Amino acid sequence: MNPEKTRIKEVPLLDVRNLETAFDIDGTDYNAVDDVSFQVKPRQIVGIVGESGCGKSVMSLSIMQLLPKGIGKVKSGQIVFDGINLEKMSESQINKLRGNDVSMIFQEPMTSLNPVFTIGYQLQEVFFNHTIISRRNARLRSIALLKSVGISRPEKIVDEYPHQLSGGMRQRVMIAIAIACQPKLLIADEPTTALDVTVQAQILELLKGIQEVNDMSIILITHDLGVVAEMCDEVIVMYAGKIVERTDVDRLFHNPKHPYTTLLLGAIPKMDEQEDRLNSIQGIVPSLINMPQVGCRFANRCPKAMPECTTITPLLENVEQGHEVACLLFDTSKPKEEMR
Ligand code: SF4
Repeated sequence: MNPEKTRIKEVPLLDVRNLETAFDIDGTDYNAVDDVSFQVKPRQIVGIVGESGCGKSVMSLSIMQLLPKGIGKVKSGQIVFDGINLEKMSESQINKLRGNDVSMIFQEPMTSLNPVFTIGYQLQEVFFNHTIISRRNARLRSIALLKSVGISRPEKIVDEYPHQLSGGMRQRVMIAIAIACQPKLLIADEPTTALDVTVQAQILELLKGIQEVNDMSIILITHDLGVVAEMCDEVIVMYAGKIVERTDVDRLFHNPKHPYTTLLLGAIPKMDEQEDRLNSIQGIVPSLINMPQVGCRFANRCPKAMPECTTITPLLENVEQGHEVACLLFDTSKPKEEMR
């Protein structure tokens, strides 16, 4: 293998280091993302999974610098994109970066698309904001983009309004807007949740195709492990603002370690089993203001909890090469015979 190629591949496109993102509630800061570190390499698809309230979306808004002003803030840590620390960038540099190098698509395209402007107008705005282009060429490029995301009759759709399109077509338009400037990183936050299963599969296939053609990296935020299995190279499992497990997709599905991951996998309906009830995880994710300050945040829901789980905070550690887990069952500081 070409060593130069290997070296380039290993340099992360995105390097999130010890990120803490807090929300101000009645004058007190509560961490929605708490000491999170991870990397995304060029051309890699990284899935971030967990239930609602685990901090997945807050993390993506932190990366995009789109936290609600005056309420949410990056309290500490670094977000380094393509070698540049985003915290050191000015507002106008961030605006340039957004859409150009990093783009995002959201779950419900109807809330992201402006209902009073045509599809063409909204696509052309991206070109006008990021490139120097004539109105005619922007329109032609918009039509070509719509075609590239699988929209038939793009010459007609370009003059239509969002409400005239189906949910699947609106999501295709959102993808077209997101990839208009060929970003290096696309953050897709539950991009298929609002769609029916057939359209979901088409959109995932489209994203994967674009990723391969454009050599793009993707962070895929989802609660759906089926989507992760289909799409991702690496998976990060989050619980209550922290990463509890991180590994490649094969290992996560065949050798999950953290009890939360095991329960998430157990909750996937299986084709070959006839169950009257689907498995679910008892209890709920603790709210920001009720977050345990010490011990494992999953302790009150964990079927394997031990007395020390409420007094010792587990750290994310390598349990084997390329497999990190934050659980006292795998605490490498314990003598081997004490490990279960
Ligand atoms: Fe369960 Fe304890 Fe591991 Fe937390 S540290 S996941 S409570 S066994």
